[in-house]
Amino acid sequence: MRPPILFPLFAPLSSLPGVGPKIAQLLNRLIGAEVVDLLWHLPVGAVRRIWRDSLNGAVAGEVVAVTVTIEGHLPGASPRRPTRVRAMVGSTPLSLVYFNARGAWLEASLPEGGTRIVGGKLEQFQGEWQITHPDLVLTPDRAAEAQRPEVIYPLTAGLTSRLLARTVQAALAITPELPEWQDPTLLAREGWRGWRQALIAVHGPEGERDLSPHTPDRRRLAYDELLANQLALGLVREHNRRQAGRTIIGDGRLIERLASALPFALTGAQIRAIADIRADLSQPRRMLRLLQGDVGSGKTVVALHALLIAIEAGCQGALMAPTEILARQHAATLTRLLGDLPVRVVVLTGRDKGKAREALLAEIASGHANIIVGTHALIQESVSFQDLAVAVVDEQHRFGVAQRLALAQKGRGVDVLVMTATPIPRTLLMTSYGDLDASRLDEKPPGRTPIATRTVAADRLDEVVAGVARAVAGGAKVYWVCPLVEETDELDLAAAVERHSALSEALGAQGIRVALIHGRMKPTEKDAAMAAFQGSDADVLVATTVIEVGVDVPDASVMVIEHAERFGLAQLHQLRGRVGRGQAASSCLLVYSAPLSETARARLQTLRDSDDGFAIAEADLALRGAGEVLGTRQSGLPGFRVADPAAHGDLIAIARDEAALILNRDPDLTSPRAAALRVLLYLFERDAAARLLRAG
Ligand code: ADP
Ligand code: MG
Repeated sequence: MRPPILFPLFAPLSSLPGVGPKIAQLLNRLIGAEVVDLLWHLPVGAVRRIWRDSLNGAVAGEVVAVTVTIEGHLPGASPRRPTRVRAMVGSTPLSLVYFNARGAWLEASLPEGGTRIVGGKLEQFQGEWQITHPDLVLTPDRAAEAQRPEVIYPLTAGLTSRLLARTVQAALAITPELPEWQDPTLLAREGWRGWRQALIAVHGPEGERDLSPHTPDRRRLAYDELLANQLALGLVREHNRRQAGRTIIGDGRLIERLASALPFALTGAQIRAIADIRADLSQPRRMLRLLQGDVGSGKTVVALHALLIAIEAGCQGALMAPTEILARQHAATLTRLLGDLPVRVVVLTGRDKGKAREALLAEIASGHANIIVGTHALIQESVSFQDLAVAVVDEQHRFGVAQRLALAQKGRGVDVLVMTATPIPRTLLMTSYGDLDASRLDEKPPGRTPIATRTVAADRLDEVVAGVARAVAGGAKVYWVCPLVEETDELDLAAAVERHSALSEALGAQGIRVALIHGRMKPTEKDAAMAAFQGSDADVLVATTVIEVGVDVPDASVMVIEHAERFGLAQLHQLRGRVGRGQAASSCLLVYSAPLSETARARLQTLRDSDDGFAIAEADLALRGAGEVLGTRQSGLPGFRVADPAAHGDLIAIARDEAALILNRDPDLTSPRAAALRVLLYLFERDAAARLLRAG
């Protein structure tokens, strides 16, 4: 249970003064739904206004604060005209211009004959100074507030920095002093102040220097988060260790048959990974292993070995994939690899309904189905297994830890293998997968042809289309990817649909068939499009990023990526990995719209120069935030709010060691410091891990 002291921070944003439903909605979209989300929304700028005693030498465009004497109010001649408040700065007139102002309110805040400090951008109008809608009006006794720099926050349409700053201040005002969870020795050594003071300071930068991730206050907050993260991972790991696993030892009958049936020899990396898994399974403790391998490195056959060992031991295996397409494709691949082995593979997704679903559930419950592949439909309550022993989770970062645990709970002492095609830099491995053992497939299966990667400006799209026509005439299959950042983005969706019809028109005359697939199509339509492209009914597949993960069409050899500048590096690498799987020489065209930002240029160049997923992942981490490397930002899973593994790498190792020490000495967090550490876990929303603690 969340400690009551945190309740105000987890109240809805609309509980703050000045946040009505409309603003709450905008904030929700930009930041999150709760007060705590606002606390983590850190400033990106600090603008100091120019303090002026007179307007001599002033320049239009300056953001100033000046002391004025109010002379009088001149309402607009018509309701559409502004009210002008005449004021004097010393002996220089200055007009304060208000559109749609309520006269009474204006007269109260700027009373005739009164003295006020006003701030805003100086303008010249018909030879006189004016400020339109001053952003600051203060009585002279509050002069100090005008000296403070204006804090700039990341914004969304409809919100101003001023409003955000005011709302953040309101949030800080209700932020309680929390018990200190950090070790006093560490605080002293690093020169860190308490959490609340650090938070207030971070939201009140005096200048650019205070915005760096390396200030003591930002480092303190980052370290809090990293410690919460490492504690959470440690708790999950401990919990896992304490749970009885089971010993799964196969008799080799299926694996031997598979070895002789496989059309290829396993790579050294695959053999090593399988040995790791076999050893884990044979131990009485639970397996929790991460299988990392670049696209096309051959993870599926490794997973199949894990599943077969379970079946040899008389149990069932499950494979959970993030999308319907992937689940079906995995099932097809497994079935193909299995050939005539006596293993029954079934697929369960959200699409299965009624009688068909009942029949599937019965097969799973009776043990008639040996390998069960599916989406998160697998963790629904109605699904029960006869005896699930090994669970493989594909593309883990799309699932939360909670889902992984839920699948493991479908059996007794289930061994879990997590697969990811996003190679993960070492620092991130620590922060995101610290609870897992890891195996790397760092060796590609033989016979891959390198992919020639080129960048092309969008104004040469005609040449790209002509190139596609030539490639198809030469027997190639072509992916044409359009960006779709969010499945709900109508504009992007329209762009993909439009590209499909434009290409159909341009290429149709030459007998080239173009298919379309995107996330909003009905499942049956998606299947039909995939089947057409996999078979011989379509030569070009226009796709949004639904094809990003896993999709396997070995004879596709050309990849065109439109608006490549809008994709992340890891994502581009994943997409490119869709080609270069067969014998044909493959190519990838990164079509970009000029002008390119500095980072976008660096991204595209990295991709052109390297084909090594692990190297690309390190570059990606250096170029962008960690959340993006892991893909969490897109999928909205809880990532890091303050800590940035690129900037706070040194703190990660300290946090890991400290968490280990804490859990070693006090595994259930019962010591006096522990109460504060619990608050920390809940503050950073590591609730699932915190719940693993005994009540206390
Ligand atoms: P990943 O899931 O890691 O992206 P897959 O498991 O889909 O990769 O494998 C990609 C392709 O390589 C598949 O067609 C698979 O049959 C093939 N493959 C896997 N291992 C080997 C190997 N050792 N030698 C040759 N081909 C392999
Ligand atoms: Mg795969």
